[in-house]
Amino acid sequence: MQKDLKESFKCTCGKVHSVPKIEIVFEENAFKNIDDFFENATYLVDENTAKLVETPAARTIKLEGSPRVLATMENVEKVMSQLRSDLIVSVGSGSLTDIAKYAAHLAGKSFSCFPTAPSVDGYTSCVAAILVNGEKTTAQAVVPKKVVVDMTILSEAPIDLLRAGIGDIAAKVTARLDWMLSNLLIGEPICDFAWDQLRDELEVVLDDSERVLSRSKEAVLRLMNVLLVSGLNITIVGNSRPASGAEHLISHTLEMYHEAINEIPPFHGLSVAMGTYVTLKAYRVIFEDVRLKRTCLTNEERFRVLSDFFGEEKAKRFMNLYERKIEPKQIDLDHVRRTLKPTYEKFLEKVESALEAIRVEELFAQYDPEFIVKLILVSNTIRERCTVLDLLDQLCLLKDFARKVFEV
Ligand SMILES: [Zn+2]
Ligand SMILES: [Zn+2]
Repeated sequence: MQKDLKESFKCTCGKVHSVPKIEIVFEENAFKNIDDFFENATYLVDENTAKLVETPAARTIKLEGSPRVLATMENVEKVMSQLRSDLIVSVGSGSLTDIAKYAAHLAGKSFSCFPTAPSVDGYTSCVAAILVNGEKTTAQAVVPKKVVVDMTILSEAPIDLLRAGIGDIAAKVTARLDWMLSNLLIGEPICDFAWDQLRDELEVVLDDSERVLSRSKEAVLRLMNVLLVSGLNITIVGNSRPASGAEHLISHTLEMYHEAINEIPPFHGLSVAMGTYVTLKAYRVIFEDVRLKRTCLTNEERFRVLSDFFGEEKAKRFMNLYERKIEPKQIDLDHVRRTLKPTYEKFLEKVESALEAIRVEELFAQYDPEFIVKLILVSNTIRERCTVLDLLDQLCLLKDFARKVFEV
């Protein structure tokens, strides 16, 4: 962990970064007496976590959702209306944490958390992914005062949440490549600090995926540590760039698609794992000179897919966003390859084997292949962020890439 960091420091990127004060407590079996760790807290639980951890009934808000609670604005409002104290503590994983920290932000309260799975990097980040009118938005939220990490609870988390944690952490590699790419293509400022904090431990964790899945406490703790560092990176840099690139755009698009048709999407880290698989393949096209047909995707085609997924009104908004995206003045592919190559080569096999360990191919198998093609075609329209999907788009390779993603 980043215990030796000063409160604020001048970074090599030229900015002064401040490091939030977050108390991280590692305590086995903390779940048995959770109220000893937080003072006068209102706890946020759901059906599943209420069974795991006993919280004082008078200060507990229980959210219902079938089969699970989603981080929607309605749930955030529900929590705000039932708050009983100045501190809100989420007892759960990604969605409950996002709801709690965004509710705390809007209500001007403090937030702490008791993670029940090593499944996302959101516990220590300053942003929350909230569904507002069916649209996934990244909202500014509150950084936790305290995180209580209970290894007994984490190592017994449902297997799909362990898989999801590996997915969300493998994504840091493609997020880093995309940030470097965006820096080269459109001059987006980049900071090396975040990557420096993460990369060594990230390597170990990716190599350890099988042990995470067999619930080795040591491996699960390592994964949790890296997730906490990744969340802190978001907080220190001030946005999700260090943790999120094309793989998260694909995941957000997929999640929004499910929500648009009133379905429960896969766990965040699992859809991110699918996104990471596709993004890594996109980089393979760049690095290994894979032969693809150059055919441009027209705006009409893009609009048609977006309308299919989200209806015409939302499709129009995404198209507006897409048309405002900054285009690179020139694309020097050799320069891109030279700059990104050491990171790509170092991590390629590690990410691939981690994705294999969590059986990413099973996740894809749940969808019609034609749907996956469409998903890849429009994922770069939903956010301003520049990623490798934009590069393929610019090079008129995106269309053929989407068709051949599993052959690349
Ligand atoms: Zn994520
Ligand atoms: Zn920096």
